[in-house]
Parts: sequence; structure tokens; C-alpha cells
Amino acid sequence: MSGPVVELLDVRKEYPGGVTALDGVSLRVEAGEAAAIIGPSGSGKSTLLHLIGTLDRPSAGTVRIEGRDVSTLPDRRLSAVRARRIGFVFQQFHLAAGVGALDNVADGLLYAGVPLAERRRRARSALERVGLAHRLGHRPHQLSGGEKQRVAIARAVVGEPAILLADEPTGALDTATGAGVMGLLRELAAGGTTVIVITHDRDIAATLPRQIRMLDGRVIADDVRAEAAP
Ligand code: ADP
Repeated sequence: MSGPVVELLDVRKEYPGGVTALDGVSLRVEAGEAAAIIGPSGSGKSTLLHLIGTLDRPSAGTVRIEGRDVSTLPDRRLSAVRARRIGFVFQQFHLAAGVGALDNVADGLLYAGVPLAERRRRARSALERVGLAHRLGHRPHQLSGGEKQRVAIARAVVGEPAILLADEPTGALDTATGAGVMGLLRELAAGGTTVIVITHDRDIAATLPRQIRMLDGRVIADDVRAEAAP
């Protein structure tokens, strides 16, 4: 595919009560890029991630995912784009309690209509990719924070989405564990997945090659570095 994977053109988002959460954001993110969205609380980071993730629609402007204008897609088509092309990772992991790592990841393929044996085969391979081949049967309460986040990442990428969106993925982890998770996200980007991470932590942001800085619903800086910090 040519062209950006994510493209926003003059996007605005207004919430009821007169709050302008996004005030004319334009942005292009290419395949295999790894970008951090940084900015203080209330600057519009989550709103931006929700719009890119097709969880919400802009009040004005255009959101294109892999060249497709999702601002105008009907809900069913939008859900299909989201299920097939976008993976999500959250600060609090959101794994199913009492369910082993393999099936937590396999469940990421439920909506793709893949038979159980194939779901498990792919889940095993995704867990191998995140370095957890030795934890297939472990349930969330038997895993460390870093391992839980790796399972969540495996679940997000098991369907091979074009885009991985992560909302404060290291927020519940200590510094060293968080650095390991960021390393994994960079590896996924190197493999061609477009990775976009919200963080309020500058050090975390600095581990990615691109930083998009938000303030008051606008992008106030967008820096791409040739070399990411180690
Ligand atoms: P951040 O993620 O940077 O903290 P948000 O995108 O959550 O910022 O919020 C941007 C602005 O939009 C804030 O002023 C916030 O209070 C407001 N906002 C976010 N979600 C809603 C909502 N559902 N309804 C009304 N206002 C909202």
C-alpha cells in the first residue's frame, strides 16, 4: 500500500458543553513508524487516539485509515476496520481473569471468524513473538506486570493489524519493565506495524523516533529523529 497508514486533515472534536478537545489537527503516520503522542492532561491525546482508533468520529475534518475515509463509514463497516486493522493496548492490560495467556491472546481473533485450533496456533506464535513462549498456560494473576502487558500486546497484534494504539502502556510498570515493553513496541514497528503510543512521560516518549506534542487540542510540535534513544 502506498500513502500514509493514518492521515488526519484539519480534524476537530467538540464535546457537548462547548469543550473543544481537538482544534484542527492534521497528521500523517506512515507504515512502520513508531510515534509518541505527548502533552499535559486535557491536551487532547486520548481524543486523538480514539479518533485514530475509529472509536469515535470527528466533529469536522477527515480521518483516513489506510487511505479509507472513516469519518463517513457506516458503523458496521467502521467496526470491521477496527477489528481487522487496529489493535489496542491499555495501561491496565484488560486481560480476562482466570483465563490462561494462550486463550487470552486467542480471544483477540474471535471476531475474525477463525476456528479455535487456528486461533490457538496463531496465539502461540504471537506469544513467542513477545517472548512469552514459556507462559502459555499462566493466568493473569500468575504473571508479572510486564508479562501481563506482553500478553496484552500479543492479543492486540495476533490478528496482524496495520496499527497498534497504546494508551499509557507503561503507566503501571516500573521503569526497567516499561523500557522492555517499549523495546517490544519498537520491534513491532520495525516489522511494519504502525505504532502510536500516548504517554505523559518524556523519557518513555524519547525511546520512540517520533514525538507528536499536543497542547490545547493542537499539535504544537512534531519531531522525527533519525536515531531513537536506547
Ligand atoms: P488527554 O488525553 O490529553 O488528557 P483528552 O482527550 O482526554 O485529553 O481531553 C481533552 C479535552 O476534552 C479535555 O478538556 C477533556 O475534559 C475534554 N473531554 C474529553 N472527553 C470528553 C467527553 N466525553 N465529554 C466532554 N468533554 C470531554
